[in-house]
Amino acid sequence: MQISFKGKKVVVTGASRGIGRSIALAFAAEGADVAICARGAPGLEAAEVELKRHGGTTFAMPCDLAEASAPASFVAGAVSALDGIDILVNNASGIGMRDDESGWRASIDVDLMATVRTTQAAIPFMEKAGGGVIINISSISGFRAVPRTLPYAAIKAALVNYTMGQGLALAPKRIRVNGIAPGSIEFPGGVWDNRKASDPQLYQRTLDSIPWGRFGTPEEIAKVALFLASEMGSWITGQTIAVDGGQLLASKTGPSATLPAS
Ligand code: NAP
Repeated sequence: MQISFKGKKVVVTGASRGIGRSIALAFAAEGADVAICARGAPGLEAAEVELKRHGGTTFAMPCDLAEASAPASFVAGAVSALDGIDILVNNASGIGMRDDESGWRASIDVDLMATVRTTQAAIPFMEKAGGGVIINISSISGFRAVPRTLPYAAIKAALVNYTMGQGLALAPKRIRVNGIAPGSIEFPGGVWDNRKASDPQLYQRTLDSIPWGRFGTPEEIAKVALFLASEMGSWITGQTIAVDGGQLLASKTGPSATLPAS
């Protein structure tokens, strides 16, 4: 079976760089019309130029999804530009690392509430189209205790549960809802690329914790998004899939699990 998204209308939040950009580009490369958003206009414009090379319709809207009205405005703009919506990818994150008011606010407002609001705005259009697919980008942090990033991990865990509940709630409307939980993903200008310089010990510890001995790439997350959104994933709903080269398994078993037997 071949994966093609020709004529499909895809909306990706937080897609000016990193994982969101790769997901948007992967859908565009398979023929989809794609709408993207981010706060920074220059990065967004550059990403839209790349999308346009694939020949489909594109829409890019600078917005801050932490603002309560922004998710619905973005979906409305995307629907008007693309003439509908078949697939929604909730990717943007507030990256709320610190256990303080601003860390929790960022995680709740962007990772959780923007996902809820964008989903609510998209559902009527998917219903009109006879069905759809929603993909929520969580993290393997949502599957384990992470004292270093309490708000981020707790809210990514909330997304796992939200994905299950919505998978069930939206089945009668023929809307599948799934999640992807990436492990540590590295790309130029991304969080792990930056940590290589700002916190080399954490970078090395994290690298050592990945059984495959390398970080993942945004393209490896995008491939799973395409699979889940395609007919190949037609019987999958309510699931959040770890895409991490075994990083989560190793962290639950202990570092010795990846050492050669002595
Ligand atoms: P990233 O490099 O920080 O990119 C995030 C994207 O979202 C950017 O385009 C950013 O553009 C946009 N964005 C951020 N806040 C926004 C807001 N309030 N409103 C609108 N757009 C916003 O992130 P990433 O590393 O690619 O991660 C993408 C997703 O994967 C996130 O949900 C993250 O939690 C998850 N994840 C990543 C990793 C990893 O190792 N990278 C691991 C596990 C899970 P602007 O800054 O211009 O707004």
